[in-house]
Amino acid sequence: MAEYDYDVLVIGAGPGGYVAAIRAAQLGLKTACAEARETLGGTCLNVGCIPSKALLHASELFEEASHGALAKFGVEIDGARLNLDQMHAEKAKAVGELTGGIEYLFKKNKVTWLKGKAAFQDLSTVKVGDQTVTARDIVIATGSVVTPLPGVEIDQKVVVDSTGALALPKVPEHLVVIGGGVIGLELGSVWRRLGAKVTVVEYLDQILPGFDGEVRKESAKLFKKQGMELKTSTKVTGVTVEGDRATVSVEPAAGGAAETLSADAVLVAIGRKPNTDGLNLEAAGVKLNGRGQVEIDHDFATNVDGVWAIGDVAPGLMLAHKAEDEGVAVAENIAGQTGIVNHDVIPSVVYTMPEIAGVGLSEEAAKERGEVKVGKFPFMANSRAKTNRDTDGFVKVIADAKTDRVLGVWIISSLAGTMIAQAAQAMEFGATSEDIAYTCHAHPTHAEALKEAAMAVQGKPIHI
Ligand SMILES: Cc1cc2nc3c(=O)[nH]c(=O)nc-3n(C[C@H](O)[C@H](O)[C@H](O)COP(=O)(O)OP(=O)(O)OC[C@H]3O[C@@H](n4cnc5c(N)ncnc54)[C@H](O)[C@@H]3O)c2cc1C
Repeated sequence: MAEYDYDVLVIGAGPGGYVAAIRAAQLGLKTACAEARETLGGTCLNVGCIPSKALLHASELFEEASHGALAKFGVEIDGARLNLDQMHAEKAKAVGELTGGIEYLFKKNKVTWLKGKAAFQDLSTVKVGDQTVTARDIVIATGSVVTPLPGVEIDQKVVVDSTGALALPKVPEHLVVIGGGVIGLELGSVWRRLGAKVTVVEYLDQILPGFDGEVRKESAKLFKKQGMELKTSTKVTGVTVEGDRATVSVEPAAGGAAETLSADAVLVAIGRKPNTDGLNLEAAGVKLNGRGQVEIDHDFATNVDGVWAIGDVAPGLMLAHKAEDEGVAVAENIAGQTGIVNHDVIPSVVYTMPEIAGVGLSEEAAKERGEVKVGKFPFMANSRAKTNRDTDGFVKVIADAKTDRVLGVWIISSLAGTMIAQAAQAMEFGATSEDIAYTCHAHPTHAEALKEAAMAVQGKPIHI
């Protein structure tokens, strides 16, 4: 039998890779994890979920303190000032604590961190930096990178990607965001709250592709109310930079008169693509699909025996929790157990204010599969939201018309990101709308709106 340096080698220490490595080690496998970055945690911890949420939280506090939003509650603040350096410092501290935490977990679980960029030599041999190691099973968890916009050069000064937008040294006067998806809207919200004029240019006729149609419409209304300009059905045809200013050329997506937008910052946020750069997958014979993703089966196995793939580099939603769950499952499969991820129940959250969250099917997608019943409940009629003066948004429950099984839940609310977990759990357990409607929810809470929306599926909400 062949002798290997490791039972399992994971390539990439993002939420997919580091979780896979820890779980494999917990299952008694000798495990190493290769990471090219200086710190562990991948895109999510270093330049994604965590720093963006740090700035979203801090900018929300600034907006509340500086724009008099607290005055109606009797909290009057004079002369709130922005200290952007301190905001960035606190963000960096949170990132440092969390990436350091993964290093601690690696030590605790005896996962060896191989520092450097990994490249396959053959199906079980990988070069990491200047060392070469062998492993019986190899998990590709190399994540994703920013999709470039052809003809637009990212200089990380005037034209930035999400990483640059998380570190702008000053508040732009006018930020043009190219792409009305989750990342563009979150980072656009940060800089709008801190004082920038923000224009979002989106090619499609609505923001937030993939979300429920009604949720997309209502979200657009709320972002506009907050002062964001949304230019939908509009395509960017070029960006030119002169000194510290950019000129963004746009025209209607369907064709028509062109116009230009002058900006001192442009964020390119049109999406992310799988990252297999420099991995030398050919040496192992691993196949990619037409979208550049590593092709896998239901068990996360590639076409090559002993090589697996998870997270953003593999098909499916590009989300940290999807990558994490796949990390656990792939390690269990490698250990001979049955690791499963239910890809039909992966929640998505936009961490703006209010938050926008969904799990399962949109109403449009559900209707394509058969007859549905829909229940909706507005936060305007929820007692806690009314008390907190926090009434933007609604809960929408979509159920199969015959079986009543819940097919999708969508929430716009300050607490939507937390509330969606209950919906996901209910759906994972195969709940009907009646199951949710007859579950006792504490009063007064925002969560009661989910119960009422479920009651509304049967046409019997109490408070509207
Ligand atoms: C601004 C922003 C905000 C986001 N916010 C959220 C959010 O709030 N919630 C959410 O769920 N998702 C969010 N995401 C998406 C989330 O970050 C990704 O879905 C998640 O990080 C994917 O995890 P992963 O493990 O597949 O890959 P990654 O996190 O991308 O990690 C891959 C790692 O592999 C390393 N690597 C690549 N190639 C090699 C190699 N050859 N050798 C060694 N190492 C290599 C990379 O350096 C990287 O550290 C956000 C993304 C961005 C950009």
